[in-house]
Amino acid sequence: MRVLILAGTAEATALARLLEGHPRLDGTVSLAGRTARPARSNLPQRSGGFGGIAGLADYLRANRFEAMVDATHPFAARISANAAAAARQAGVPLAALERPPWEPTAGDHWIPVADLGAAAEALRPLGRRVLVTTGRQELAPYEAVPDKHYVIRTIDPPEPPPALPDAVYIQDRGPFHRDAEAALMAEHGIEVLVTKNSGGDATRGKLDAARERGIPVVMVERPERPAGVPLHHDPAAALRWLEDLAAGGHSASS
Ligand code: NAP
Repeated sequence: MRVLILAGTAEATALARLLEGHPRLDGTVSLAGRTARPARSNLPQRSGGFGGIAGLADYLRANRFEAMVDATHPFAARISANAAAAARQAGVPLAALERPPWEPTAGDHWIPVADLGAAAEALRPLGRRVLVTTGRQELAPYEAVPDKHYVIRTIDPPEPPPALPDAVYIQDRGPFHRDAEAALMAEHGIEVLVTKNSGGDATRGKLDAARERGIPVVMVERPERPAGVPLHHDPAAALRWLEDLAAGGHSASS
């Protein structure tokens, strides 16, 4: 069964590796092409946008895909919406693979916000020295709150950098451990952390470090997922869904 994995996450790479050499599942990995050195599997890989819903539906039909797994990042809302619509159009069963969100524990001081604009607004009454870990693509909202010292950590450099008068840029790729995160926060005198609720262990260390240091966390909550798409939280569960489908256990396009 030909399977398209919409990727760009550790979960997608893990699922792709489970499909390597699989006797019944023939996987292809699709990346947006934004990251310079993406993690790879040995599955065939394509890169770049499809051209919206119609482009993805055409691609599914032209390449005779029989199933699709949306394993994109919880904050990649457009491709997830496109995948749901294109799967319906092309009659291809779709499931989502998404790591569970982080939950606050005792001692956490989280300020939940709906989006990055709200995150920037939430910073106003908080400390001046801000660690920003919300990615390189949406830094413009912080320009509305320019009177802070921003420490902005991204995998690849922001292009173009935001118009912020007082910003330091760090390029680094996780996993980030708690002790290293605490050391970074101490070095830069960080008073507040901004993060998306991405979930997962690779970047959880900053939350542990913030709790230990009594630092508030502006937590950008996840956008809503498209309705009616079965959701799996780990790669093994998504693999079982595919194997069941290949065995004829499902027939409806989700
Ligand atoms: P997005 O806003 O949901 O998608 C924007 C456009 O990028 C889509 O409409 C699609 O273009 C293309 N695209 C996205 N993912 C694709 C994929 N896996 N394969 C082919 N085309 C894809 O996505 P985003 O937030 O820019 O994220 C882009 C990629 O980075 C995703 O693969 C995501 O998993 C990964 N990522 C995102 C975040 C985040 O915080 N947003 C964090 C880590 C990794 P067309 O409409 O032309 O098809």
